[in-house]
Amino acid sequence: MRYSKFLAPSLRDNPADAEVVSHQLLLRAGFIRRVTSGVYDYLPMGLRVLRKIEAIIREEMNRTGAQELLMPMLQPAELWQQSGRWDKYGSELLRFKDRHAHESCLGPTHEEVICDLVKRELRSYKQLPMNLYQIQTKFRDEVRPRFGLMRGREFVMKDAYSFHADEDSLQEEYQTMFKTYQRIFTRLGLKFRPVEADTGSIGGSQSHEFHVLAESGEDLIAYCTHCDYAANVEKAVAKRDISVFDDAPSHHVDTPNITAVEDVATFLAIPEEQLIKTLLYHVVGGEYDGQVVAACLRGDDALQEIKLVRALAADEVMLASDTDLQAIHAVKGFVGPQDLTCKLLLDESLRDAKGMVVGANRVDQHITGFSVDCLDADFVDLREVRVNDGCCHCDEGHIEHARGIEVGQVFALGQQYTKPLDVLFQDANGKRAIATMGCYGIGVSRLIAAVIEQCHDEHGIVWPLALSPFQVTIITMGKSERVLENSKKLYQDLLNAGVEVLWDERKERPGVKFKDAELMGIPYHIVVGERGLDAGIVEIRRRAGEKHEIAITETVDSMLSMLEEKL
Ligand code: ATP
Ligand code: MG
Repeated sequence: MRYSKFLAPSLRDNPADAEVVSHQLLLRAGFIRRVTSGVYDYLPMGLRVLRKIEAIIREEMNRTGAQELLMPMLQPAELWQQSGRWDKYGSELLRFKDRHAHESCLGPTHEEVICDLVKRELRSYKQLPMNLYQIQTKFRDEVRPRFGLMRGREFVMKDAYSFHADEDSLQEEYQTMFKTYQRIFTRLGLKFRPVEADTGSIGGSQSHEFHVLAESGEDLIAYCTHCDYAANVEKAVAKRDISVFDDAPSHHVDTPNITAVEDVATFLAIPEEQLIKTLLYHVVGGEYDGQVVAACLRGDDALQEIKLVRALAADEVMLASDTDLQAIHAVKGFVGPQDLTCKLLLDESLRDAKGMVVGANRVDQHITGFSVDCLDADFVDLREVRVNDGCCHCDEGHIEHARGIEVGQVFALGQQYTKPLDVLFQDANGKRAIATMGCYGIGVSRLIAAVIEQCHDEHGIVWPLALSPFQVTIITMGKSERVLENSKKLYQDLLNAGVEVLWDERKERPGVKFKDAELMGIPYHIVVGERGLDAGIVEIRRRAGEKHEIAITETVDSMLSMLEEKL
């Protein structure tokens, strides 16, 4: 490709709306352009990277025997009604009517469509197991699309769906996919970590997410310093030293205008963990839909909202309003779990707790010497694990936190979709049975951003060779016939040798060309200049690495062996 004809518009300055480095560099180096919120054009270079990532994913998926197909973006409401997700999925699902007033949506994921396909084609257990995948554009009307390709509304996903005669076969495929994901992310040159995950709106019994470790990651991961345990904080559990307090007689005490946990603790001269904090939430979806619930934790713990949502089998929870509080006889700032007319959930760490302090449900008062055994409550895990908590899986390690970008997730779904969508087959005994299912996603376009978050320096992107839009760029210095002719010959020879090469023959100053080449992150730069030609040489520079002078006659061979070495 000749640069002067190539659509790769670079920008000198960081665009104002780009907060993270991958977004800045993708815009500055001319890989993407914004069309509207969370929706982007992939310019030729962006598309080249996307295709390379797709090729690696395809190769690794095909190696396992998975079969590629392509499903539509448009999906009929009926299938989603059958699975129960038409109402449940929330506003990320873009629903609309076509000209015949037929309700439809844009696919955020394809469990419904694949089940509908497989149910019509599956007859016998002999066809199982079967893993079908696609690489396709998804639409999710995200509340906060941001960080460029990291969280778009329209994005490219690899989604695979496997079908099985039984749970053992699903477990086998789950392990195969797990290992395949490790191979894929290793080939992409990423530092990543698989972690136990919440099953989210997709559902199922078991799930792992794959996280690229990066400060800009939106997810928080808890991991053990000693063993392999790692989990998204939405799911993570840990050991916590729990102090036991004396079973003192209960008293009302005045706490004028003192509401915050730390202020009450200071005022009463007690540790924060001796307080029970009672958080009130309004529930959406599930058995408690529209009701207020109370969630209690030790004063020094934080609630992990997703754990509360799961414990209630709800769609979401929202902080309760003042009206909600009045309805259950709670007094703002002085809420306690006793006497509330609502469902009560207590964190496991409060089991058998006594000698505690709670809000009195009266203005300016707390109660001391409180025991939880007077409460009619369910005990569940609600707290968010903290750094330095003990690991539950080994006795030696403790919990640390890291930030991660979720680039993939695998789910053992079981019969969550196959049952409502009637995916049946004839088993080995000739009986009709429900298929068992798994699903496995990779954020293909998000990976472009994730790679850049890990592979960049102050000058721009530093692509791993396998992903770079071009392997080599030729930088022609000066305008003389001689440098142009020599560059052109080298360009042709490299093309003929099958090298992906961008020839910068623009009438720009060398400084501009070097800057652009570094910004784009192409791994090898061949510099052709007057002085070098006088000596019969060109310079090969490795992006963010060493330089070599090579005889012009040997450039192609040297380049080929360098590419070979690094592949
Ligand atoms: P997140 O928690 O980041 O919203 P998710 O868990 O909802 O993602 P999945 O349903 O697991 O996403 O989708 C599979 C993969 O698709 C994710 O692991 C992620 O890499 C990618 N992905 C999901 N949402 C987006 C998005 N809005 N933009 C780009 N990639 C996305
Ligand atoms: Mg996910």
